[in-house]
Amino acid sequence: MVFAMNSAPAPVDFWTSILRGWSGRCPRCGEGALFGSFLKMKNHCTACELALEAYRADDAPAYFTIFVVGHIVVPLVLLLERWGNEPPLWVHALLWLPLSVVLALYLLPHIKGAVIAALWSQRIASPKPSAPKPSAGGLDSSV
Ligand SMILES: [Zn+2]
Repeated sequence: MVFAMNSAPAPVDFWTSILRGWSGRCPRCGEGALFGSFLKMKNHCTACELALEAYRADDAPAYFTIFVVGHIVVPLVLLLERWGNEPPLWVHALLWLPLSVVLALYLLPHIKGAVIAALWSQRIASPKPSAPKPSAGGLDSSV
């Protein structure tokens, strides 16, 4: 999507931006990709030029992914233990370890995109880590 010089993108509601982020698309325009590779964020949207580097998800996607995967896998473990005639531990390891890894790898980029979209929709941006820090009180620290 290309925007004319004087036209701004239409306002986006919270859940639309979350859905776009979940799909790995720019939360503002829904056209450009959020990620250059598996979890590597692009600096800006290639479609609408939204600066994406200011929205840093940090550890939130990993936390939410662990939370969701745990709430899927642990009940399944308990159900198998209860209704599956108490299988040996190697059966549990064979089932739940690969399932946990696959679920985490599937969910992590989706959740990271949704977190980035939530940060964008709430205007929660953080400065680039490499940006110079403003001097305290306007005093020049080099003097
Ligand atoms: Zn965009």
